[in-house]
Amino acid sequence: MIIRYERNGKVKHGWQVANEKKVRVIEGDIYKQDERKPVMTGLELPIDELRLLAPCTPSKVVCIGVNYKDHAIEMGKELPAEPLMFIKPSTTVVGPGEAIVYPSLTENLHYEGELAVVIKKTATRIRADEAEDYILGFTCAIDVTARDLQQRDGQWTRAKSFDTFCPLGPAIAPKLDYNNLRIVTKVNGEVRQDSNTKQMVFKVPELLEAITAVMTLLPGDVVLTGTPSGVGQLHPGDEISVTIEGIGTITNRVVTES
Ligand code: MG
Repeated sequence: MIIRYERNGKVKHGWQVANEKKVRVIEGDIYKQDERKPVMTGLELPIDELRLLAPCTPSKVVCIGVNYKDHAIEMGKELPAEPLMFIKPSTTVVGPGEAIVYPSLTENLHYEGELAVVIKKTATRIRADEAEDYILGFTCAIDVTARDLQQRDGQWTRAKSFDTFCPLGPAIAPKLDYNNLRIVTKVNGEVRQDSNTKQMVFKVPELLEAITAVMTLLPGDVVLTGTPSGVGQLHPGDEISVTIEGIGTITNRVVTES
């Protein structure tokens, strides 16, 4: 799996074999296929010596609302006839272990655990059957949402866009059967969401076709594919984790705005 890390002030990508405590250093650009393409070096580092960062730095995070059947039911919403899109700015992204800041403007902060797709190469107007060629891999995401602002505003920009509202990580798994992955969200160790990507209304390839019919996705851009049922509140001091089969767990803590 691909990770991004900081060590001695330098930021690099590395390759971690699942569940191993060592990381192979990658040189070159993980999004390139020419002479700048990534090369796995022989250098191995203990993962404990690295500060893990969000595994990519998207220019934008494109999100899909109400894309799980079980979540549509809990929200009392009809299944959308076409993918419902919104955007989180790049400044929402944080890495594993980083703080989620509880804004003073909200009184109802919610978590939404989600499968995230990381884009490999520039994608404009692609068809669903070509989508696989444009996917670098998959990671875990938390679509942090100020639910009261979402309801009050009628559109979602403010509710979804506070700094730190998009934890991503811990790693990018390149190959996964993304139509059948267990996804579990815990708050303070207690299971709140336990579902499967099987529940998605629009599958990943259809989402990429629909999004790229509107906007170009760039290398490193991220698509959040919607949340299953069980969304709920976060409070300062809470520890939230999202685990997706085949990827791993991202854990973040909620802190008050200082
Ligand atoms: Mg969401």
